Amino acid sequence: MKVRFWGVRGSIASPGPSTVRYGGNTTCIELTTDAGHTIIFDAGTGIRPLGLKLLAAEQKKCAVCISHTHWDHIQGLPFFVPLFSADREVHFYGAFDPVYQKDLESILAQQMEYCYFPIRALELKAKLHYHTLHEGARIEFEDAVITNVMMNHPVLTYGYRVDCNGKSVFFSGDHEPPHNIYDSDDTFYGEYDQLIQDKVGRICEVANEVDLFIIDAQYTEPELLQKRGWGHGTFSSALAMARRAKAKKVVFTHHDPSRTDDQLDRIGAKLQAQRRSNDPPMLIAAEGLEIDLG
Ligand SMILES: [Zn+2]
Ligand SMILES: [Zn+2]
Repeated sequence: MKVRFWGVRGSIASPGPSTVRYGGNTTCIELTTDAGHTIIFDAGTGIRPLGLKLLAAEQKKCAVCISHTHWDHIQGLPFFVPLFSADREVHFYGAFDPVYQKDLESILAQQMEYCYFPIRALELKAKLHYHTLHEGARIEFEDAVITNVMMNHPVLTYGYRVDCNGKSVFFSGDHEPPHNIYDSDDTFYGEYDQLIQDKVGRICEVANEVDLFIIDAQYTEPELLQKRGWGHGTFSSALAMARRAKAKKVVFTHHDPSRTDDQLDRIGAKLQAQRRSNDPPMLIAAEGLEIDLG
């Protein structure tokens, strides 16, 4: 299985001289299974160049696993050219939004209404299949198996694990380490803490001993204090989770739009310097980064 990063930015695309090395496109990750099939995690602006590559490829079918439908994870989709080609088949996987009572198909179609985009979803030529997932689903897609787990974000968000031929990848989507809303001397503190432990435990169980753990690390610790509840993790919370899941390699992604290349270099150097001897290898995601899991 091979993994390639096409978009590593969170929140909004951020092109410019200070992001040119790590890249400014929003979340999109391509997995190629051992048999050559394509599974995509999220459809941020990075999916546009990926679509151009796929259009030139022989493979006519792909899966797109949507972690959640915030803009930075779906905004590239109207520019994903395979959707416009009648000989293509695209399978979308994602959650039903229980708050707004909308499924993935209607949310994705909404961003292609005339007030937002000149071509409507019903004009797309490819064969499109929308699959609404409940938590803990098990999907067989060609030679891979996809499973999911609920993460901690303001909207229902799935993390996905893909297994193929004994190798595995976990992608968190957006995730904030759950925070106890009660003071430690409050009656409800212990009960709430148990809920948090259960939630994190479920995620780490799904991601257990994964070969590649790709996780949201948008903030630094001081930034998280200012942005608690916005739904993102830090480099250290991401690493703590990777350790708990016994991941074999970690990639930090969903970089803050304000994070410059030089800052990411410095964060990467600090992480390496503070690395414990039994920590997994760590990488900071960059557009074009490819990892071959063999
Ligand atoms: Zn995001
Ligand atoms: Zn989000």
